[in-house]
Amino acid sequence: MSVFGLLTSLPSAAESSLANSRVSDARAEARCAQAEVVATRRQVDRLQMICEAMWTIGKRGVGSDDDELLSLIEQIYLRDGRLDGRSRSTASACAECGTVVSVRTGVCLYCGKVQSQKTVF
Ligand SMILES: [Zn+2]
Repeated sequence: MSVFGLLTSLPSAAESSLANSRVSDARAEARCAQAEVVATRRQVDRLQMICEAMWTIGKRGVGSDDDELLSLIEQIYLRDGRLDGRSRSTASACAECGTVVSVRTGVCLYCGKVQSQKTVF
């Protein structure tokens, strides 16, 4: 490439400014995402402690033990036929239009009908 070609291929000041602005925006978004991850990690840690405290109280009250809890957790995992450490909620048909609705959302995305809650989780 000739010197002239090289010079004409360089970004203009406006293009450089736009690129710098985009880099700055991307860095700001990355910082926000990182802060959200930290906040979510704190929430998960707190929920884990609450769950452990509730379990400690519960097993005293009903005379259960960790083996029974582990067995119940396994049964919950197996509800979808897979022992993969994840609990998937099942879907149901909308009472209004019959469209498949996630149990977790509780609202039909097609017609907006609020579904009756059939399960706590
Ligand atoms: Zn519907």
